Amino acid sequence: MKRLLIILMLVLLVTFVTASYVKNVIYFIGDGMGFNHVYFASILEGRPLNMMKSQHVGIVKTFSANTWVTDSAAAGTALATGFKTNNGMIGMLPNGELVPSIAEILKSYGVKVGIVVTCRVTHATPAAFYGHVPDRDMENELAEQLIESDFDVVMGGGMRHFIPASEKGSKRNDGKDLIAIARERGYTVVTKKSELAQVESGKVLALFASSHLAPASERPDDQPMLYEMVEKALELLSRDGEPFFLMVEGSQIDWEAHGNDPYGVWKEVVEFDEAIGVALEFAKKNPDTLIVVTADHETGGLSTSTGSYALDVDKLREFKANTDWFLARYNVEDKEKFIAAVKEFYGIDVSEEDYAQLLNIKKTAKSAYDLPNAFGRYISSKVLLGWTTFDHTSDPVPIFAFGPGSEHFTGWLDNTDVPRIIARLMGCPLTYPIQKEPIIAGPVLY
Ligand SMILES: [Zn+2]
Repeated sequence: MKRLLIILMLVLLVTFVTASYVKNVIYFIGDGMGFNHVYFASILEGRPLNMMKSQHVGIVKTFSANTWVTDSAAAGTALATGFKTNNGMIGMLPNGELVPSIAEILKSYGVKVGIVVTCRVTHATPAAFYGHVPDRDMENELAEQLIESDFDVVMGGGMRHFIPASEKGSKRNDGKDLIAIARERGYTVVTKKSELAQVESGKVLALFASSHLAPASERPDDQPMLYEMVEKALELLSRDGEPFFLMVEGSQIDWEAHGNDPYGVWKEVVEFDEAIGVALEFAKKNPDTLIVVTADHETGGLSTSTGSYALDVDKLREFKANTDWFLARYNVEDKEKFIAAVKEFYGIDVSEEDYAQLLNIKKTAKSAYDLPNAFGRYISSKVLLGWTTFDHTSDPVPIFAFGPGSEHFTGWLDNTDVPRIIARLMGCPLTYPIQKEPIIAGPVLY
């Protein structure tokens, strides 16, 4: 009897230790990815996405310190630091007080850190993990802060903020050569997919484009897909067996949703999900890895029907191009060619009335977005797919978790809870201000 009791206690102890131990964290953020973006992509794929296989699913509130409808800077700050701030601000409270990100804190304790994105690495979401600026547009300063962060793996776009003003394509207004500085600090700097494959160890700064990477469906051969970057990042970060923290952003889901572009959203969500698949494979071999998948906010107010108890899934599956790609090649003013191309790429017969409306929008456009937005809304309406806005909404977003501690990411959460829970599960030292309540400068909502 006594022996049985000891065995039982040992089993319980082992279960507790293995269940609560988080060594590595892979933190996925789908920019602008609401519940419906995930479900919509799943419907079109005709299968559950990798992220949907989670047993632990929650709901995340996204409001910022000064508005119900957050932007990526305030939302990124909440997801990275555990604090609300005003839209546009990165890594600081509304009063300007700097707050550290979970990545910076973990780095200071020797945990390896990586960030992998398909936008400029100085864009709002990645910046929230290393940057501290009052305005997200300060991307030259953010590039300097990124080098200062000494993060081990950085992959994405944005070369234009790292090269001196004298170089072609630079967006800097000074002579600083951040690429040279990065090399001095031990980074291997690569700009092509083929070069990335050759990196076997050490710190890497991989900038595959002057600005953002091309959209998932149009990515050229020398730019990697997100899953390829994640494969390499995991290889480099896990090489010596020490703990690591990797943030991965599906950066362009948001932009496609801003344009109300069904094909674009579909392909971006799938690219993001393929990268999650790579992480899940890694976690199978490394079960002390926690994977968290969430979004910073919802974009577009996507709805999977506009009436008649229907969504034309068959027609949606025939869509073959992003609206931006399409409109760059087919001029609405070239009537016959345009109408034929809409049929070819979207399976839609454009009526005379619809054509006249699109042509009028082109002729009276006040911004470069007017026609792409209207065209996205138009092709969506033909398949009964709905959008309420070309901007963000305050809709809550999903959170999916896999691995040890994943049961903590269920129910209604606030975006500021997410990094706090991760920090706790990683046994992050108490310098992380987990006792401090988030500051809400605007209306105290709830
Ligand atoms: Zn965003």
